[in-house]
Amino acid sequence: MPCNYKEYPENWKWLSKQIISDAGNRCELCYAPNHELIVRKKDSGYPWQLAENVGDGGDYPKLTKVILTVHHIDSDKNNSKKQNLIALCQRCHLRLDLQKHMKNRRAARQERNKNELSRNGMRCWIRPK
Ligand SMILES: [Zn+2]
Repeated sequence: MPCNYKEYPENWKWLSKQIISDAGNRCELCYAPNHELIVRKKDSGYPWQLAENVGDGGDYPKLTKVILTVHHIDSDKNNSKKQNLIALCQRCHLRLDLQKHMKNRRAARQERNKNELSRNGMRCWIRPK
């Protein structure tokens, strides 16, 4: 997902480098090392090995270059206190954001359906969550 730096504090680049450095330059969930080529088992997700340690790929067919990014634990981009920030690899970051993306997509779909029904002159009965 593209990053809109206008939503972040002015010192975000410096701050995110600090968070990644404080994490030992590794993902804080799966410990994948930043900027290294790794392979992961196809379906399990978290176990990984350095690509150089896997011969022909075998059970680890997906080659990935780890790029750490910084995640807001409470999803509030205005809360950039160090305690609210965590360094994550792409996979862990996507997994944490998945629930939020699903919730946003569900809300957008319900709004679309509501508008569609309104245009057709029908009442909309969407159950509140
Ligand atoms: Zn990770």
